[in-house]
Amino acid sequence: MAESGRSLTALVPTRTQGLRQLNDLAEVIGDYATSRNYADGMTTSRLSPYIRRRLILEEEVLEFARTVGGFARIEKFAQEVVWRTYWKGWLEARSSVWKAYLTQLRTLDETLPGADQDRLVCAIAGKTDLPYFNAWCDELTSTGYLHNHVRMWFASVWIFTFRLPWEMGARFFLDHLLDGDPASNTLSWRWVAGLQTPGKHYLARADNIAKYTNGRWVPKPGELDESAHSLRDDGLARIPAVKPPLGPDASQIQPRAVLLHDEDCGPLPDSWAAVPAVRFVVTDRPQHCPGKLVEEWIAGATADADARVGTVTLARSAAEVIDWCRVNGVVEVGAFRPLTGFVGDALAVLTTGLATTGIQLRFADRGHDITFFPMATRGFFPFWEAASVTLRRR
Ligand SMILES: Cc1cc2nc3c(=O)[nH]c(=O)nc-3n(C[C@H](O)[C@H](O)[C@H](O)COP(=O)(O)OP(=O)(O)OC[C@H]3O[C@@H](n4cnc5c(N)ncnc54)[C@H](O)[C@@H]3O)c2cc1C
Repeated sequence: MAESGRSLTALVPTRTQGLRQLNDLAEVIGDYATSRNYADGMTTSRLSPYIRRRLILEEEVLEFARTVGGFARIEKFAQEVVWRTYWKGWLEARSSVWKAYLTQLRTLDETLPGADQDRLVCAIAGKTDLPYFNAWCDELTSTGYLHNHVRMWFASVWIFTFRLPWEMGARFFLDHLLDGDPASNTLSWRWVAGLQTPGKHYLARADNIAKYTNGRWVPKPGELDESAHSLRDDGLARIPAVKPPLGPDASQIQPRAVLLHDEDCGPLPDSWAAVPAVRFVVTDRPQHCPGKLVEEWIAGATADADARVGTVTLARSAAEVIDWCRVNGVVEVGAFRPLTGFVGDALAVLTTGLATTGIQLRFADRGHDITFFPMATRGFFPFWEAASVTLRRR
């Protein structure tokens, strides 16, 4: 069942606003297990844009959830919070899946047949024959958010009814979602397509859409392909995991200088305070073109992080980081490890550039990632079995 009384807190890209929203969520979290699948009203937390940039941290969200009730009451919510952790950890151990996605996008941009391009243009413009799909497109591009169930229906219609390449749908999401995240997005699209759990795909059904939109949308019989097969297995879900280079724990080190980036706009550990700080601004997002709302969200989140730090110098290239290091007499810089994605790719290049001038970039991780990423070796359910033991103890 869904409710309608709860109001949405305005999305503002600051840590203060994220914490305010979190503190208003007792009722939502308490009802989450029964309400969360309804895509109508405030049935879920809408915290993802904050969590994505680490304006608020997973441990803070989980800690608040524990004030709502015992583990059994909040288990479903806790499970979803660490789905994100699972996807991040899974991709960290198999970053070639991200690279394969970008490569395939480049190929598709060059080779997509004309008829597919026409369907793509209509889908992205929200001008298809399916009014509910068009409404979801409009909601995505005008708000930067879609409910999880809508994302599943959207991706399924895109892949199995419109027969469009999943990668192009994933790009459309990544460019417009305020929470757009290389791991959660790429791997969720792969999951809907039946590539992430080979042979098991997600098919949007008319009755499911009607039920969970409380009758707002009722697809006509035959409008959706409800019997399509999964996409052909690309083998990527089974590539061996490479142990990600985790640690040290950020709170255990005392860097003499820090480099900030937009993947982590969270509070700095006490041991990172009062040292010179430079922000590496990454604008290179190959094969992607983030929408205005996403650009503004990132700009707001980074400005908020900088305001909490105090004085931060902006650097837009390796040369500018090197200059800043010289001016500040710095030969070693600490940074949060950027996980697989655009910032990770840019920082890999930066690290090499700095090393040639004798400057070391040393990465550290959040304790949450150090604890849970090593559990993301196989499917979600073995991960949850291990993670829930740790979470129950807290
Ligand atoms: C095709 C597709 C694409 C997606 N792309 C993204 C994405 O780019 N970024 C993103 O953060 N999530 C993505 N998700 C996952 C999920 O839809 C969103 O995290 C969720 O809808 C965010 O809304 P909420 O904050 O109200 O979530 P809630 O239901 O309140 O959950 C609380 C938190 O748990 C995490 N979470 C919940 N569900 C999931 C999930 N299925 N997978 C991973 N984390 C989850 C999020 O951090 C979320 O804020 C995608 C799902 C699908 C099916």
